[in-house]
Amino acid sequence: MRDLYGLFGEVLAHSYSPKIHQLILQNLNLPGFYHLFELPKTDLKTAVEGLKVLGAKGINVTIPHKISIMDYIDEISPEASRIGSVNTIAFENGRTRGYNTDYFGIDKTFKKYEVELKNKKAVVLGNGGAAVTLVQYLQDKGIGSLTIVSRNPEKSKTVKVFKNIPSLHYDELDLIGEGDVIINCTPCGMYPHIEECPVPESFISKFKVAFDLIYNPPETEFLKYAGNSGLKRLNGLYMLVSQAISAQEIWNKINISEKIIDEVYAEMLKY
Ligand code: NAP
Repeated sequence: MRDLYGLFGEVLAHSYSPKIHQLILQNLNLPGFYHLFELPKTDLKTAVEGLKVLGAKGINVTIPHKISIMDYIDEISPEASRIGSVNTIAFENGRTRGYNTDYFGIDKTFKKYEVELKNKKAVVLGNGGAAVTLVQYLQDKGIGSLTIVSRNPEKSKTVKVFKNIPSLHYDELDLIGEGDVIINCTPCGMYPHIEECPVPESFISKFKVAFDLIYNPPETEFLKYAGNSGLKRLNGLYMLVSQAISAQEIWNKINISEKIIDEVYAEMLKY
């Protein structure tokens, strides 16, 4: 029988995850099937318990369930607990353990594109689940100065990882000045709303590196603006592939080589 994997989220029709996991499984010659489970928050508990009984092997979690899912998992890994967000669940012997592999995907992306973060000035757009992981990562890497910009700065004060970090509204961009790295952690500009961008081009032009966590489309309006001003540009596809690789490593208790990450990434660039 093929192992059962999948993704919990609210709207999944355009997810790349089934394709990425199919490519990884094929590459490793592992039997498995990756299913999309669209479900509301109110069904998370039943879904986790149901998959335990059915013998699933692993589940990824995406918008908007990465934080709420933590209430229904038996054990949380130290890194996911520190960040306060779970995007990967392993099922074993009737128990569940939650991990955060987005952190690994972010690390792989900054390293691949050789972005220096120590003592640099960064701005993060958005204060949702992805921003939480990103901000934890930037702090771990010794970022010099960090500002979070969002529609609801008051919400940032309630999040453990954002404590002590200045949080501004989009109306207050003038207070920020020039910087090194700007990162879009909102879905603004994601398919089908491809004409949107969370901040004006004049603001993006004040930075040297632009990272958009969005991967569909590959070049968002945010990255187009960044290109106009000659910034180094990173989209979210390498992060997406890397977090999936890390999840498969956890589920199958294996190490996957850099070569396979690059092969899957190359296939996904054509997809
Ligand atoms: P989330 O938890 O729902 O948070 C979304 C954030 O964006 C919130 O701060 C939200 O603000 C803000 N936002 C939503 N629509 C906006 C708009 N039109 N204008 C300005 N701000 C807006 O989602 P998430 O998990 O953090 O994901 C955010 C993005 O990162 C998504 O595009 C997702 O696909 C991407 N992502 C990519 C990867 C990858 O591997 N490449 C991994 C994780 C996430 P409010 O609270 O005010 O609604």
